[in-house]
Amino acid sequence: MLSSYEDKLNILSFSHTELSEIVASLGEKPFRGRQIFGWLAKGVETFEEMTNLPSRLIKSLKEHYFIGLPDVEKTQKSKDGTIKCLYEFDDAVRVEAVFMKYSYGNSLCISSQAGCKMGCTFCASTMNGLERSLTSGEMLGQVLKMVKITGEDIRHIVVMGMGEPFDNYDELSKFLKLIHDENGYGIGYRNITVSTCGIIPAINRFAEDFPQVNLAISLHASNDEVRRKLMPIASIYKFDDLIDVSKSYTVKTGRRITFEYSLIKGVNDSVEDAERLAKYLKGWLAHVNLIPLNKVKERKYEATGENTIRTFKEILEIRGIPVTIRRTLGNDIDAACGQLRRGR
Ligand code: SAH
Repeated sequence: MLSSYEDKLNILSFSHTELSEIVASLGEKPFRGRQIFGWLAKGVETFEEMTNLPSRLIKSLKEHYFIGLPDVEKTQKSKDGTIKCLYEFDDAVRVEAVFMKYSYGNSLCISSQAGCKMGCTFCASTMNGLERSLTSGEMLGQVLKMVKITGEDIRHIVVMGMGEPFDNYDELSKFLKLIHDENGYGIGYRNITVSTCGIIPAINRFAEDFPQVNLAISLHASNDEVRRKLMPIASIYKFDDLIDVSKSYTVKTGRRITFEYSLIKGVNDSVEDAERLAKYLKGWLAHVNLIPLNKVKERKYEATGENTIRTFKEILEIRGIPVTIRRTLGNDIDAACGQLRRGR
């Protein structure tokens, strides 16, 4: 699927080889394709900025294509340096992306869909359902535009914004190839993380297609009963099966999996929960990232208190499970995990 604007195609969705074929079909030398791809990665907004292209090529490109960088509807800056952007695409669809500064470098959290149909009961992104999936070019556009706005280099990408990336697998995989391509922006696969609510067939496919890209799985529970309360997807894919497929992912790829676990007061934060979780994750390449629940005002859930978080973490640690607590960035501007929306 390509988004179109006045019947034109978003040129950001094409790989450099596809662009070479396109220019060849327009009677130009194929190497022009790589030149165009390089210009796009620099964030140019018009074809005229591609100064080493012949003007007849610029003219034919303009007839058929547009450069689909999103418009910026709103920018919010947090006290901690986090920047949240509300983007709008050519058909008025809006998504948010979040720029974060870490000691290891700058990271961008991008959206893979406008809205989400997964229905997790503690997340803001799913509240009005799925509007539409984003194209690969629209995912790339979120990165290129943020580089422009901030003037900063972005070397890490997390696909953890709005949407379920594995519900949009084909466009996600095109995006991963586009952003990785050294002829373009060139981000290493190991600097990219994709987070899923646990769509089992896609996890298997991802292990084959992108063994170098980091995988995070939103677990949020240590059994089916609690997981089903929080995540409707748990009624389709059983907890035990998710654990089994995760184990085989680590065997196949040699890479660890990060399990995201948002701690929700009185729901999934008991000592028994921690012990059960440790039992499932013991002895293989599993890592737990505890996320203190971020407040979503329409949702009834409360965050677990600091002491209980610490106890939960210690129980996992004592049992040999690697665990970190996710630093909450940008929650003063509703830019933290689960707080992204389609705009307001
Ligand atoms: N759909 C994907 C990508 C979303 S990533 C997925 O489910 O993994 C966003 C992460 O934040 C997920 O782990 C999600 O479960 C978590 N999250 C959602 N709402 C949250 C909230 N209110 N507080 C903390 N984490 C939340």
